Order: sequence, then structure tokens, then C-alpha cells
Amino acid sequence: NESASFPIRRKDEFGEISKALRDMNESLAKAERARKQLLSDVAHELRTPLMIVQGELELAQETGDTLSPDKQSSILDEVYRLSRLVHEVLDLSKLEAGMTELRPGEENLSSLLEELADKIRFLAEDKQIRLTLDGPEEEVRVSVEKPRILQALYNLLTNAIYYTNPGGQIRVSLERAIVPDKQRPYARIRIEDSGVGIPEADLPHIFDRFYRADHARARPSGGTGLGLAIAQQNVLAHQGWIDVRSVVGKGSEFAVYLPVLPSSSQD
Ligand code: ADP
Repeated sequence: NESASFPIRRKDEFGEISKALRDMNESLAKAERARKQLLSDVAHELRTPLMIVQGELELAQETGDTLSPDKQSSILDEVYRLSRLVHEVLDLSKLEAGMTELRPGEENLSSLLEELADKIRFLAEDKQIRLTLDGPEEEVRVSVEKPRILQALYNLLTNAIYYTNPGGQIRVSLERAIVPDKQRPYARIRIEDSGVGIPEADLPHIFDRFYRADHARARPSGGTGLGLAIAQQNVLAHQGWIDVRSVVGKGSEFAVYLPVLPSSSQD
């Protein structure tokens, strides 16, 4: 009877198929757990600012008092925080799902860093932090979507400023780097600060969304705990990565690696 014969070509084929199905099941379960975790993290993060806004407005309604300018601006701060959070979560989940299509263009990292340092210098000066930029004179060309790489570097630099005490130092440097086991040349941007540092136990987690090394020290407002996750995803989307080294009480160094394009002067 022809139709009854099941076309098993090799005797281990069943085993292979069931293993593949098991693997698929496991990764689906993992994705489902990650989705639930994100949902609960986001709900948790939204709750506090929402409760503040709700509380203030209800109080004003009950008492019939008008809101003082101070109250108005603190409510507005919470609303800004909420909308930043929503925007960042959306952007991050698109990046993580690989749903972001990059529109890269050829950029010179040296000038990109100068542009960023000029924009940010006033933040450092406000805290009497010395910000220096060391880079090669020649061009370091990369193929990137400029706003995404600017955002990644902006997040790293504003963290460096935030987690460094007044009077400290931040050094940004750019160089070409040969990376073992990698066939192509890379550009390395280092952001070194003389700040508070990150405990060793926290280092493996700081790129996780909503993770903050020390809750007491974490930004009272402003920070969402998404800055590093977004920076990392943006850089990963460009076939690069971010490394970190840190010593508590001494400072931190974040290194961003990006593939460089061959330039006429070097290659
Ligand atoms: P946040 O909004 O809290 O800054 P990030 O994702 O940018 O979130 O950073 C995650 C955590 O990593 C921070 O809460 C902080 O504990 C730690 N961190 C990041 N950058 C630095 C730095 N330059 N120095 C010390 N700690 C840092």
C-alpha cells in the first residue's frame, strides 16, 4: 500500500524534526516572556508619573484652587517624562524587533564628534567638568544613520556628565582599532569619565532596559533607565557594539565600535 508509507529518508529525521520543533517552542516561550516583562516594566515606569499628575490635578479640583506656577511646571515635567518614556519604549522595541530600517549615509566621525561636543559642552561647563575631545586630524568615515549614532553618543556623554561630580573630567577620543577575530577595521570612540563608577555586579546589566545601578543615585528625574539600552541597540543596528569598563570611585569608560569605510588616505 503506497499511501501508507511515510517518506522517512533517514532514520534520525524524526528526531531532528522534533528537536527543531522543541527549539522553536523554547524561543517562542522566551520571546513571550520578554514581551510580558517589557509590558510590566513599562506599566511600572508609567505608574509613578501618572499618579503624580493625577494626584495634583484631583487636589486642585477638590479644593478649587488654581495651580501655582511651580505646581504647573512640576506637573509638566512629569508629562514630558511620560511622553519621553513612551517615545523611547516604542523606538527601542522597534529596534529590538529589527523593524527599524536604517537609512545610512557616509559620515565623518571626527566632525560628528565635534558637532556633538559643541552641543553638549555647556552641560559640562554648568558642572565645572572639563570636556576634551581627542581625535585624528584625518577623516574617519563610517556609513551610519547620523541621528541614531548621534543619539547613542549623546546618551553616553550625558550619562558621563550626569555621573561625574563637579570639577571632574571627561575625555572623548576617536581612533582606528584593530579588533581580534574581526576581518574589517573599526573606529573606536571612547568616552572616559572621572565619575562615580559602576559596581562590578551591575556592569553586566546596565544595558538592560530600565536597569539602574544604584537606585539612590539614579537620576531623580530625566533619566528613564533606557539611555544605554537605546545606545546599544542603535550601535548594534550598525554592526557595531559598546564595551564598558569601570572602577567605583574612579570612573567609567564606554567604548563604541563601528565599522569604518576604507578611506583614500589610509587604505
Ligand atoms: P539612566 O536614565 O538611569 O541614566 P541609562 O540606561 O542611561 O539610564 O544607564 C543605566 C545605569 O547605568 C544608570 O542608572 C547608572 O547607574 C549606570 N551608568 C550609566 N552610565 C554611567 C556612567 N558614565 N557612570 C556611572 N554610572 C553610569
